[in-house]
Amino acid sequence: MRKKIIAGNWKMNKNLEEGLALASEVSNMVKDEYQGSAWVVLIPPALHVSGVSKLINGMPKMYAGVQNCSNHKSGAYTGEISADMIKSTGASFVIIGHSERRQYFGEHNDWLARKIDAVLEAGLTPIYCCGETLEEREKNAHFTVLEKQISEGLFHLNEIQMQQVVIAYEPVWAIGTGKTASTAQAQEIHAFIRGLIAKKYNTAVAQEITIQYGGSVKAENAAELFAAPDIDGALVGGAALQSRSFTDIVKAMP
Ligand code: PEP
Repeated sequence: MRKKIIAGNWKMNKNLEEGLALASEVSNMVKDEYQGSAWVVLIPPALHVSGVSKLINGMPKMYAGVQNCSNHKSGAYTGEISADMIKSTGASFVIIGHSERRQYFGEHNDWLARKIDAVLEAGLTPIYCCGETLEEREKNAHFTVLEKQISEGLFHLNEIQMQQVVIAYEPVWAIGTGKTASTAQAQEIHAFIRGLIAKKYNTAVAQEITIQYGGSVKAENAAELFAAPDIDGALVGGAALQSRSFTDIVKAMP
């Protein structure tokens, strides 16, 4: 059965002390209150990931990740962080292609495909983000946009590599806006993405891949979203910045 994963993307929030305190609170709450089977991934700013990894080391179901990574292995790339460096901190997951990276840092599908390769080569798990803008949805272009993001970012992978990837569907109009896609809207897209994978690879691969939903997920809407057959967890932004709200989202996954 495919893995259920709830990940908290802290974005550029929390200094080191605050971040370690949040990680400690979340890990204690998850340990004491959560009996379900989902994996929980804490994704702090990269500077804090080594400390967060140490703090959760040995805890079942808990992992750490980062929000971006270089497509290069090493060398003269000032300010960049390589996948091998990330791996050496104990982190396991890397977000690739978050809409904020696409929008503010000009990251395009072909560039992201190379980052996916770097992450997989280091033995880490990429969380590949895709999603349409409000304008694209209003023009009814969302299926085309998603197909392009998925095929250009991922479909150069072979079957084995593809099965290592986690996908996060995050409609841009729902990120940080308080507007969640309805469960029906999210399920429709998740099923569409799974269908694209089945067509390119096969049904077995498509059924193995975790597809998270992201966009204003809160404790109040998480259970309904998680009950949909193709929604395998969440990538959480704002609500991941507080231990109580994030843990309550985790607890909504059986
Ligand atoms: C995100 O940034 O990935 C996200 C989904 O943010 P929020 O939960 O705040 O909408």
